[in-house]
Amino acid sequence: MKREKIIIISIIILVLCIVVLATNIDKGFHFDTKDYIIEQKDYTIKIKTINSNSNKLNSKIKEIINKAKDSFLKENRNKGSLIIDYEYTRYKDIYTFHIISEESIKKILKRKDYIIYYDSKERKILEQKSLIKRDIGLYAILNSKCIDYLEEKKITDYNEELLEIDDNNYQLLTFSNSTLHVILINNNKEFDIPIEYIYIKEYLSNNYFKIKDTKKTEEKQEIVITEDKEENEQEDIDKTDELNLPKYLAFTFDDGPAKETTTTLLDGLKERNAKVTFFVLGSRAINQPELIKRMTSEGHLVGSHTYSHKNLLKLSLEDALNDINRTNDALNNITGISTKYLRPPYGNYNNSILDNSNMVFILWSVDTEDWKNRDSELVYEYIINNVNDGDIILLHDLYPTSVEGVLKAIDYLKNENYQFVTVEELFNKKGIVPEANKSYRYVK
Ligand code: ZN
Repeated sequence: MKREKIIIISIIILVLCIVVLATNIDKGFHFDTKDYIIEQKDYTIKIKTINSNSNKLNSKIKEIINKAKDSFLKENRNKGSLIIDYEYTRYKDIYTFHIISEESIKKILKRKDYIIYYDSKERKILEQKSLIKRDIGLYAILNSKCIDYLEEKKITDYNEELLEIDDNNYQLLTFSNSTLHVILINNNKEFDIPIEYIYIKEYLSNNYFKIKDTKKTEEKQEIVITEDKEENEQEDIDKTDELNLPKYLAFTFDDGPAKETTTTLLDGLKERNAKVTFFVLGSRAINQPELIKRMTSEGHLVGSHTYSHKNLLKLSLEDALNDINRTNDALNNITGISTKYLRPPYGNYNNSILDNSNMVFILWSVDTEDWKNRDSELVYEYIINNVNDGDIILLHDLYPTSVEGVLKAIDYLKNENYQFVTVEELFNKKGIVPEANKSYRYVK
């Protein structure tokens, strides 16, 4: 009887222990909001902060808040206020905390934004680079997507510099369910621009992101439709073939140079004895002068794509012309050749820019949309199914897929009696003298 009692008591103790343990076992990451207000004679500080069950996260947030508080108190000579608030987004286990600090001193607003990435599964703070690979290819996509978004929403009051293809931009990135958000702070006002993951798939870390590829299948179908449409044009090509006249194509590459992909492209073009045109950004050219020199020494043409990819329509005429001249000077310093060819970013310009630029504007007749699909097969197929004699083809040397696709297309088109020339040579071959202050989409 006594032994039974001991067993029963033991069982009860054991069960109690389990219950106590179970309630103490961490139920995963959680957080709530904590508010506090400091009101002094001279200033007010209002803070809305995150209180979580992660010490690492709490101390990181505390560090940011203290920094903001210290800098406010240091500058606060008169009456003023500091408001700190936060927003968060979540993608699976990854939380993005966006902390916004707004100082108002003598009615002057000063905003600072901070981003913290927290892996709630591994219970650690992540650096941005472990989630997304920052490089010019990514910036070029974000740039296009942001411009599309702002145009669609008819938002015009933003600073064009925020969108430049530059490492200093696109710093504030948050990750939600199916979209990346680019946070642009313009005059203390926030734009939150969502970009579907599918567009930036290969820049996202495989460790954290599993993105299903649905868009590409759609685009592949589109290409099939285009093929059908192009059948009539195919007959024209066949006629030229009968006469056995040489046919010319001018491939053009925008937004570079980019060290690795441009080098691979130059190697491939050299092997095939194909010449192309590079519309480079001045801001990138000055950092890669060797690549620019190599382009010209190997018979390619280097043209301007402005200094840092500004939309010329968003600039005053004076600023637009200054930007064009600045880029020309930068290129001239590297190559010793002054270019007269300009490809305006997004193909955007107006007559007053054209009339006063003293440049030959080169647009395009075939848009491969290579930056969007980033699939070498699609790039290849699009080119071989859509080009005709005299076409100017738009590509970007930022993407390995564009380089692979275009080289494959060159191999194919060589057998179709095509020659690959710079835009300038295309004018020569066609007996047309390019004129400054005029724009061309093709040379036929
Ligand atoms: Zn561009």
